[in-house]
Amino acid sequence: MSTTQTNKIETIKATATKINEVDFDNLSFGAVFTDHLLECDFINGEWQQPVIKPYAPLLLDPSAKVFHYGQAIFEGMKAYKDTNNDIWLFRPDENYKRFNSSAVRMAMPEVPEFVFIEGLKQLLKLDEAWVKNGNESTMYIRPFMIATGAGVVANPSEDYKFMILLSPAKAYYSGEVKVLIAEHFSRAANGGIGAAKAAGNYAGQFYPTSLANKEGFQQVIWTDDATHTKLEEAGTMNVFFRINDTLLTAPVSERILDGITRKSLIDMAEKEGINVEVRPVLVSELVEASQKGTLKEIFGAGTAAVVNPIAGYSYKEVYYELPKIENSFASLLKDKLTSLQNKLTEDTFGWTVKV
Ligand SMILES: *Cc1c(COP(=O)(O)O)cnc(C)c1O
Repeated sequence: MSTTQTNKIETIKATATKINEVDFDNLSFGAVFTDHLLECDFINGEWQQPVIKPYAPLLLDPSAKVFHYGQAIFEGMKAYKDTNNDIWLFRPDENYKRFNSSAVRMAMPEVPEFVFIEGLKQLLKLDEAWVKNGNESTMYIRPFMIATGAGVVANPSEDYKFMILLSPAKAYYSGEVKVLIAEHFSRAANGGIGAAKAAGNYAGQFYPTSLANKEGFQQVIWTDDATHTKLEEAGTMNVFFRINDTLLTAPVSERILDGITRKSLIDMAEKEGINVEVRPVLVSELVEASQKGTLKEIFGAGTAAVVNPIAGYSYKEVYYELPKIENSFASLLKDKLTSLQNKLTEDTFGWTVKV
Protein backbone atom coordinates (compact mmCIF):
# COMPACT_ATOMS: atom_id res chain seq x y z
CA MET A 1 0.00 0.00 0.00
CA SER A 2 1.60 3.23 -1.13
CA THR A 3 -0.53 6.28 -0.61
CA THR A 4 2.25 8.83 -0.36
CA GLN A 5 3.57 10.64 -3.38
CA THR A 6 7.30 10.37 -3.53
CA ASN A 7 7.14 11.43 -7.18
CA LYS A 8 5.97 14.94 -6.37
CA ILE A 9 7.72 17.58 -4.35
CA GLU A 10 5.79 20.01 -2.22
CA THR A 11 7.28 23.50 -1.92
CA ILE A 12 6.73 25.87 0.97
CA LYS A 13 8.49 29.15 0.27
CA ALA A 14 10.23 31.26 2.85
CA THR A 15 8.44 34.55 3.50
CA ALA A 16 11.69 36.51 3.34
CA THR A 17 15.19 35.90 1.98
CA LYS A 18 18.41 36.10 4.01
CA ILE A 19 20.51 36.62 0.90
CA ASN A 20 21.07 40.32 1.52
CA GLU A 21 22.72 39.58 4.86
CA VAL A 22 25.40 37.43 3.22
CA ASP A 23 28.84 38.73 2.23
CA PHE A 24 29.55 36.48 -0.73
CA ASP A 25 33.17 37.67 -0.95
CA ASN A 26 33.97 36.54 2.58
CA LEU A 27 32.34 33.18 3.06
CA SER A 28 33.86 30.68 5.42
CA PHE A 29 33.34 27.16 4.19
CA GLY A 30 30.07 25.51 5.24
CA ALA A 31 28.95 28.31 7.54
CA VAL A 32 26.11 29.93 5.56
CA PHE A 33 23.02 28.15 4.26
CA THR A 34 20.41 29.22 1.72
CA ASP A 35 16.77 30.04 2.44
CA HIS A 36 15.43 26.53 1.81
CA LEU A 37 16.20 22.87 2.40
CA LEU A 38 14.76 19.60 1.19
CA GLU A 39 13.32 17.13 3.68
CA CYS A 40 11.93 13.64 3.16
CA ASP A 41 10.98 11.28 5.97
CA PHE A 42 10.98 7.49 5.98
CA ILE A 43 8.15 6.29 8.23
CA ASN A 44 6.49 2.88 8.57
CA GLY A 45 8.73 1.42 5.90
CA GLU A 46 7.90 4.05 3.31
CA TRP A 47 9.36 7.25 1.96
CA GLN A 48 6.93 10.12 2.44
CA GLN A 49 6.42 13.06 0.11
CA PRO A 50 9.55 15.22 -0.17
CA VAL A 51 9.12 18.84 0.88
CA ILE A 52 11.21 21.89 0.08
CA LYS A 53 10.75 24.33 2.93
CA PRO A 54 12.38 27.21 4.80
CA TYR A 55 15.68 26.37 6.51
CA ALA A 56 14.97 25.92 10.23
CA PRO A 57 16.10 23.91 13.28
CA LEU A 58 14.83 20.37 13.78
CA LEU A 59 12.76 19.01 16.62
CA LEU A 60 13.81 15.44 17.45
CA ASP A 61 13.20 13.01 20.27
CA PRO A 62 16.28 13.00 22.55
CA SER A 63 16.30 9.21 22.29
CA ALA A 64 16.52 9.32 18.48
CA LYS A 65 19.00 6.65 17.44
CA VAL A 66 21.23 9.04 15.55
CA PHE A 67 22.30 10.51 18.91
CA HIS A 68 23.05 7.17 20.54
CA TYR A 69 24.22 4.82 17.80
CA GLY A 70 25.43 7.15 15.11
CA GLN A 71 23.30 6.01 12.21
CA ALA A 72 24.14 8.98 10.02
CA ILE A 73 25.52 9.31 6.50
CA PHE A 74 26.15 12.21 4.15
CA GLU A 75 27.38 13.30 0.75
CA GLY A 76 29.34 16.31 -0.46
CA MET A 77 28.80 17.70 -3.94
CA LYS A 78 28.79 21.04 -5.74
CA ALA A 79 26.73 23.07 -8.20
CA TYR A 80 28.22 25.66 -10.57
CA LYS A 81 26.70 28.56 -12.48
CA ASP A 82 28.05 29.24 -15.97
CA THR A 83 28.19 32.54 -17.85
CA ASN A 84 24.67 31.96 -19.26
CA ASN A 85 23.37 31.59 -15.69
CA ASP A 86 22.69 27.90 -16.18
CA ILE A 87 23.36 25.74 -13.14
CA TRP A 88 25.31 22.49 -13.46
CA LEU A 89 26.00 19.49 -11.27
CA PHE A 90 29.12 17.35 -11.51
CA ARG A 91 28.49 13.57 -11.76
CA PRO A 92 25.47 13.67 -9.40
CA ASP A 93 24.58 10.07 -10.25
CA GLU A 94 27.87 9.03 -8.61
CA ASN A 95 26.97 10.80 -5.37
CA TYR A 96 23.51 9.28 -5.49
CA LYS A 97 24.88 5.75 -5.92
CA ARG A 98 27.46 6.23 -3.20
CA PHE A 99 24.85 7.63 -0.81
CA ASN A 100 22.78 4.50 -1.18
CA SER A 101 25.79 2.19 -0.75
CA SER A 102 26.57 4.08 2.47
CA ALA A 103 22.91 3.64 3.48
CA VAL A 104 23.06 -0.14 2.94
CA ARG A 105 26.27 -0.43 4.98
CA MET A 106 24.71 1.51 7.87
CA ALA A 107 21.44 -0.52 7.78
CA MET A 108 19.50 2.51 6.56
CA PRO A 109 16.92 2.62 3.74
CA GLU A 110 18.00 3.58 0.23
CA VAL A 111 16.71 6.95 -0.93
CA PRO A 112 14.65 7.03 -4.17
CA GLU A 113 16.44 8.65 -7.10
CA PHE A 114 13.59 11.12 -7.60
CA VAL A 115 13.91 12.42 -4.05
CA PHE A 116 17.70 12.81 -4.25
CA ILE A 117 18.25 14.03 -7.82
CA GLU A 118 14.98 15.76 -8.71
CA GLY A 119 14.69 17.10 -5.15
CA LEU A 120 18.17 18.59 -5.44
CA LYS A 121 17.45 20.16 -8.83
CA GLN A 122 14.24 21.77 -7.60
CA LEU A 123 15.94 23.04 -4.46
CA LEU A 124 18.74 24.56 -6.55
CA LYS A 125 16.22 26.21 -8.85
CA LEU A 126 14.36 27.75 -5.95
CA ASP A 127 17.56 29.11 -4.38
CA GLU A 128 19.28 29.86 -7.69
CA ALA A 129 20.07 33.47 -6.73
CA TRP A 130 22.45 32.00 -4.15
CA VAL A 131 24.51 30.23 -6.82
CA LYS A 132 27.07 32.73 -8.10
CA ASN A 133 28.94 32.73 -11.41
CA GLY A 134 32.63 32.32 -11.88
CA ASN A 135 35.39 29.89 -11.16
CA GLU A 136 35.76 31.16 -7.59
CA SER A 137 32.18 30.54 -6.48
CA THR A 138 30.32 27.29 -6.04
CA MET A 139 27.35 25.96 -4.17
CA TYR A 140 28.37 23.21 -1.77
CA ILE A 141 25.60 20.64 -1.41
CA ARG A 142 25.15 18.52 1.68
CA PRO A 143 22.66 15.63 1.38
CA PHE A 144 22.43 13.59 4.60
CA MET A 145 20.30 11.04 6.41
CA ILE A 146 19.81 10.42 10.13
CA ALA A 147 17.99 7.82 12.22
CA THR A 148 15.07 9.62 13.86
CA GLY A 149 13.33 6.65 15.49
CA ALA A 150 13.00 6.99 19.26
CA GLY A 151 14.30 4.51 21.85
CA VAL A 152 17.71 3.55 23.14
CA VAL A 153 17.52 -0.14 22.36
CA ALA A 154 20.54 -0.88 20.19
CA ASN A 155 19.00 -1.85 16.88
CA PRO A 156 18.44 -0.02 13.62
CA SER A 157 15.90 2.77 13.65
CA GLU A 158 12.51 2.31 11.99
CA ASP A 159 12.36 5.96 10.96
CA TYR A 160 14.77 8.19 9.10
CA LYS A 161 15.06 11.71 7.81
CA PHE A 162 16.78 12.61 4.53
CA MET A 163 17.70 16.24 3.94
CA ILE A 164 19.62 18.40 1.49
CA LEU A 165 21.26 21.65 2.56
CA LEU A 166 22.89 24.21 0.28
CA SER A 167 25.86 26.27 1.39
CA PRO A 168 27.43 28.89 -0.90
CA ALA A 169 31.22 28.56 -0.94
CA LYS A 170 34.25 30.34 -2.29
CA ALA A 171 37.12 28.41 -3.79
CA TYR A 172 38.81 26.71 -0.88
CA TYR A 173 42.45 27.52 -0.21
CA SER A 174 43.79 25.74 2.81
CA GLY A 175 47.25 27.30 2.55
CA GLU A 176 50.38 25.29 3.16
CA VAL A 177 49.46 21.82 4.39
CA LYS A 178 51.96 19.74 6.31
CA VAL A 179 50.89 16.20 7.07
CA LEU A 180 51.78 13.52 9.56
CA ILE A 181 51.86 9.91 8.39
CA ALA A 182 49.81 7.76 10.79
CA GLU A 183 51.88 5.19 12.67
CA HIS A 184 49.31 4.19 15.27
CA PHE A 185 45.81 5.59 14.71
CA SER A 186 43.58 4.37 11.87
CA ARG A 187 40.69 5.90 9.98
CA ALA A 188 39.26 2.61 8.77
CA ALA A 189 39.74 -1.13 8.97
CA ASN A 190 38.96 -4.13 6.79
CA GLY A 191 35.35 -5.11 7.28
CA GLY A 192 34.59 -1.71 8.77
CA ILE A 193 32.81 1.37 7.46
CA GLY A 194 35.71 3.25 5.85
CA ALA A 195 34.21 3.00 2.37
CA ALA A 196 30.91 4.52 3.56
CA LYS A 197 30.46 8.25 4.00
CA ALA A 198 29.40 7.67 7.58
CA ALA A 199 29.44 10.57 10.04
CA GLY A 200 31.31 8.47 12.61
CA ASN A 201 34.32 8.10 10.33
CA TYR A 202 34.86 11.82 10.78
CA ALA A 203 34.32 11.83 14.54
CA GLY A 204 36.96 9.11 14.82
CA GLN A 205 39.51 11.27 12.98
CA PHE A 206 39.10 14.38 15.08
CA TYR A 207 41.21 13.26 18.05
CA PRO A 208 44.27 11.91 16.14
CA THR A 209 44.07 14.96 13.84
CA SER A 210 44.01 17.31 16.84
CA LEU A 211 47.17 15.61 18.18
CA ALA A 212 48.81 16.16 14.78
CA ASN A 213 47.63 19.81 14.82
CA LYS A 214 49.42 20.33 18.15
CA GLU A 215 52.65 19.19 16.52
CA GLY A 216 52.15 21.67 13.67
CA PHE A 217 50.61 19.36 11.07
CA GLN A 218 47.27 20.25 9.51
CA GLN A 219 46.31 16.75 8.44
CA VAL A 220 47.08 13.07 8.87
CA ILE A 221 47.87 10.70 6.02
CA TRP A 222 46.14 7.50 7.00
CA THR A 223 47.87 4.20 6.49
CA ASP A 224 46.39 0.69 6.44
CA ASP A 225 45.28 -0.33 9.92
CA ALA A 226 46.95 -3.75 9.90
CA THR A 227 50.53 -2.79 9.08
CA HIS A 228 50.67 1.03 8.75
CA THR A 229 52.92 0.54 5.73
CA LYS A 230 50.52 1.58 2.93
CA LEU A 231 49.45 5.15 2.24
CA GLU A 232 45.68 5.41 1.95
CA GLU A 233 43.96 8.78 2.44
CA ALA A 234 44.91 12.34 3.41
CA GLY A 235 42.56 13.60 6.10
CA THR A 236 39.16 13.45 4.46
CA MET A 237 40.52 13.28 0.94
CA ASN A 238 41.96 10.68 -1.36
CA VAL A 239 45.68 11.09 -1.89
CA PHE A 240 47.99 11.18 -4.91
CA PHE A 241 51.78 10.98 -5.10
CA ARG A 242 54.05 11.99 -7.97
CA ILE A 243 57.32 10.14 -8.19
CA ASN A 244 59.34 11.39 -11.17
CA ASP A 245 56.54 11.83 -13.71
CA THR A 246 54.32 8.99 -12.56
CA LEU A 247 51.17 9.70 -10.62
CA LEU A 248 50.36 7.11 -7.98
CA THR A 249 47.25 6.49 -5.90
CA ALA A 250 45.95 3.58 -3.87
CA PRO A 251 43.16 1.38 -5.25
CA VAL A 252 39.81 1.81 -3.51
CA SER A 253 39.03 -0.86 -0.95
CA GLU A 254 36.93 -1.43 2.15
CA ARG A 255 39.19 1.10 3.89
CA ILE A 256 39.29 3.78 1.21
CA LEU A 257 36.45 5.98 0.12
CA ASP A 258 35.71 5.80 -3.61
CA GLY A 259 36.14 9.51 -4.27
CA ILE A 260 34.55 11.06 -7.34
CA THR A 261 37.32 13.67 -7.55
CA ARG A 262 39.87 10.85 -7.36
CA LYS A 263 38.41 8.88 -10.24
CA SER A 264 37.85 12.03 -12.32
CA LEU A 265 41.49 13.09 -11.81
CA ILE A 266 42.72 9.64 -12.83
CA ASP A 267 40.75 9.86 -16.09
CA MET A 268 41.88 13.43 -16.74
CA ALA A 269 45.53 12.67 -16.00
CA GLU A 270 45.45 9.72 -18.39
CA LYS A 271 43.91 11.91 -21.05
CA GLU A 272 46.75 14.41 -20.52
CA GLY A 273 49.20 11.61 -21.23
CA ILE A 274 50.34 11.32 -17.61
CA ASN A 275 51.37 7.85 -16.54
CA VAL A 276 49.01 6.84 -13.69
CA GLU A 277 49.54 3.81 -11.48
CA VAL A 278 46.66 2.70 -9.26
CA ARG A 279 48.32 0.36 -6.78
CA PRO A 280 49.21 0.19 -3.10
CA VAL A 281 51.79 2.88 -2.34
CA LEU A 282 54.21 2.10 0.48
CA VAL A 283 55.44 4.57 3.09
CA SER A 284 58.94 3.15 2.53
CA GLU A 285 58.68 3.98 -1.18
CA LEU A 286 57.76 7.55 -0.36
CA VAL A 287 60.66 8.01 2.06
CA GLU A 288 63.07 6.45 -0.41
CA ALA A 289 61.81 8.72 -3.21
CA SER A 290 62.24 11.74 -0.91
CA GLN A 291 65.80 10.70 -0.17
CA LYS A 292 66.58 10.20 -3.86
CA GLY A 293 64.88 13.46 -4.80
CA THR A 294 62.34 11.75 -7.05
CA LEU A 295 59.27 12.59 -4.95
CA LYS A 296 57.85 15.66 -6.66
CA GLU A 297 54.33 16.14 -5.27
CA ILE A 298 51.70 14.92 -2.87
CA PHE A 299 48.14 16.19 -3.07
CA GLY A 300 44.76 15.41 -1.61
CA ALA A 301 41.65 15.20 -3.81
CA GLY A 302 38.04 15.77 -2.78
CA THR A 303 34.97 17.82 -3.65
CA ALA A 304 35.49 20.64 -1.12
CA ALA A 305 39.10 21.60 -1.93
CA VAL A 306 39.23 19.83 -5.34
CA VAL A 307 43.04 19.45 -5.17
CA ASN A 308 45.00 20.28 -2.06
CA PRO A 309 48.80 20.35 -2.47
CA ILE A 310 50.87 19.12 0.46
CA ALA A 311 54.06 20.95 1.41
CA GLY A 312 55.74 18.16 3.34
CA TYR A 313 55.23 15.15 5.54
CA SER A 314 56.57 13.72 8.74
CA TYR A 315 57.27 10.07 9.36
CA LYS A 316 59.03 8.58 12.39
CA GLU A 317 59.91 12.07 13.63
CA VAL A 318 61.64 13.06 10.37
CA TYR A 319 60.17 15.87 8.29
CA TYR A 320 60.48 15.58 4.52
CA GLU A 321 59.82 18.76 2.61
CA LEU A 322 58.50 18.58 -0.93
CA PRO A 323 60.28 20.56 -3.64
CA LYS A 324 58.65 23.73 -5.00
CA ILE A 325 58.06 22.84 -8.62
CA GLU A 326 56.68 24.55 -11.68
CA ASN A 327 54.11 22.82 -13.87
CA SER A 328 52.83 20.71 -11.02
CA PHE A 329 50.34 17.97 -11.77
CA ALA A 330 48.25 19.35 -8.89
CA SER A 331 47.70 22.73 -10.51
CA LEU A 332 47.32 21.31 -14.02
CA LEU A 333 44.65 18.85 -12.92
CA LYS A 334 42.89 21.33 -10.67
CA ASP A 335 42.64 23.85 -13.53
CA LYS A 336 41.39 21.23 -15.96
CA LEU A 337 38.78 19.91 -13.56
CA THR A 338 37.45 23.24 -12.29
CA SER A 339 37.28 24.63 -15.86
CA LEU A 340 35.23 21.63 -16.91
CA GLN A 341 32.98 21.89 -13.83
CA ASN A 342 32.40 25.60 -14.43
CA LYS A 343 31.67 24.99 -18.14
CA LEU A 344 34.64 27.11 -19.23
CA THR A 345 35.94 24.23 -21.34
CA GLU A 346 34.16 21.50 -23.22
CA ASP A 347 33.14 18.53 -21.11
CA THR A 348 34.39 15.71 -23.30
CA PHE A 349 33.74 13.20 -20.52
CA GLY A 350 30.00 13.91 -20.22
CA TRP A 351 30.27 14.50 -16.48
CA THR A 352 28.29 17.75 -16.16
CA VAL A 353 24.51 17.65 -15.76
CA LYS A 354 22.29 20.67 -16.27
CA VAL A 355 19.84 21.58 -13.53
C1 LIG B 1 34.17 12.45 0.72
C2 LIG B 1 35.49 11.81 0.93
C3 LIG B 1 36.50 11.82 -0.05
C4 LIG B 1 36.38 12.56 -1.35
O1 LIG B 1 35.35 12.14 -2.17
P1 LIG B 1 34.83 13.06 -3.34
O2 LIG B 1 33.74 12.26 -3.98
O3 LIG B 1 35.96 13.29 -4.25
O4 LIG B 1 34.35 14.32 -2.72
C5 LIG B 1 37.67 11.15 0.21
N1 LIG B 1 37.87 10.50 1.37
C6 LIG B 1 36.93 10.49 2.34
C7 LIG B 1 37.22 9.76 3.59
C8 LIG B 1 35.72 11.14 2.17
O5 LIG B 1 34.81 11.13 3.13
